[in-house]
Amino acid sequence: MIKVLTVGRLQEHTYFFIDEKTKHGFLVDPGDEAERILSEIMSHRWVIEKIILTHGHFDHIGAVEQIRNAIGCPVVIHEEGKAYLQNAEWNLSSIYGIGYTFDADEYVQHGDVIVLETNPDMNLRVIHAPGHTSDGAAYFCEKEKTAFVGDIIFNGAVGRCDNPGGNMNRLLSSIRAQIFTLPDETVLFPGHGPSTTVKHEKATNPFFNLYE
Ligand SMILES: [Zn+2]
Repeated sequence: MIKVLTVGRLQEHTYFFIDEKTKHGFLVDPGDEAERILSEIMSHRWVIEKIILTHGHFDHIGAVEQIRNAIGCPVVIHEEGKAYLQNAEWNLSSIYGIGYTFDADEYVQHGDVIVLETNPDMNLRVIHAPGHTSDGAAYFCEKEKTAFVGDIIFNGAVGRCDNPGGNMNRLLSSIRAQIFTLPDETVLFPGHGPSTTVKHEKATNPFFNLYE
């Protein structure tokens, strides 16, 4: 079961990926409005096993520390995310005068699988797809044919690449190699805007129709 809350000034999507049977699950990219996210968790009596980050930009990580302190669960990001979490200029929080830095609890690599303890079918494979940021990762659930893609790709667009660690050529080749090779029916849940599918983006995403 997937529920989304849209938070903060950049209207970032925070996803709850929850196993309905056990009420355990993952929280993806809690970007802002920690109180709202926490009250959602409490009201459903969900047990969040891990906070999973698609990348270290401030609009995806702003509520992490408050939620981690409240519910005491580990924070997971790709190993290149350390540079973003520990540097307010890289995570862009300095632009807003926040200066937000912290450390994750687990650093993962491409190919790692994050397993829900109460339901091993509900696992997420780490897919490193740099370009929007150097730490950009998608998390793919084979069983549900679902991927959380952060700002790698959107419905009809791709992430911007003009911030630290960004590179447009790298992003486009990441998407070709890592996202467009997922099953066509895979539903992509991005950090902003409507969800889409691999098939739809392969057929219609203007960044690829223009470049191919
Ligand atoms: Zn971003």
